[in-house]
Amino acid sequence: MFPTSSSDSVSGRADEVAAGLAEVRARIAAACAAAGRDPAEVTLVAVTKTFPASDVRLLAGLGVTDVAENRDQEAGPKVAQCAGLGLTWHFVGQLQTNKARSVVSYADVVHSVDRSRLVAALSSAAARSGRRPRCLVQVALDEDEARGGIRPADVLRLADEIAGAEGLDLGGVMAVAPLGSDPRAAFTALAEIAARVRRDHPAAGVISAGMSGDLAEAIACGATHVRVGTALLGGRRAIVR
Ligand SMILES: *Cc1c(COP(=O)(O)O)cnc(C)c1O
Repeated sequence: MFPTSSSDSVSGRADEVAAGLAEVRARIAAACAAAGRDPAEVTLVAVTKTFPASDVRLLAGLGVTDVAENRDQEAGPKVAQCAGLGLTWHFVGQLQTNKARSVVSYADVVHSVDRSRLVAALSSAAARSGRRPRCLVQVALDEDEARGGIRPADVLRLADEIAGAEGLDLGGVMAVAPLGSDPRAAFTALAEIAARVRRDHPAAGVISAGMSGDLAEAIACGATHVRVGTALLGGRRAIVR
């Protein structure tokens, strides 16, 4: 369906986003009920990559408080366009050290911390800017290095580094379930790793897991943050890099 006028297009989009959000909230509520969890324990993080700032504004108007981006080039301008909405911004993409300074300037939570050099870069950017991002250790639950993440055996060491780094708070852990296998196995492994991190760092309670396709499994396994894009905003067009 193609909108015939710009006003149709604007209200049509608002209706689409509202419907997507209602459906995602219902799925989260159902997953919490099935798991015997309080929905207040689960934060919906809207992943708005490839979608315009106008969609972020619609989401904010509907009560969404947490928004995520995965590329610094796209996130920086979008955050600026959404100033004043009181949003918490999450960075969930693979992060090069030379982008640390820019990302620290707007991100409240960085989900993709997976190596010592990145901890050092984020720490010096935070110390310089006076900002204090929460950092999650991204855990690789398979051998697919292209998606980032540190091996489970090295998570505690990196968590200690973050906790000891000037300007950074250790928030917890994050993972993306491996493609083509039961996400429950991956999320169960992540929950065990999260519990070990929490033993040494009791305040690091975040488990960022679950996306459009597997948020119920993630919630069943203890996710505190689900990162949802497609189910909220629709399919993404191919990204030109
Ligand atoms: C894009 C993205 C998501 C959202 O994925 P959907 O399947 O669209 O919900 C979640 N996490 C990360 C790290 C992403 O890059």
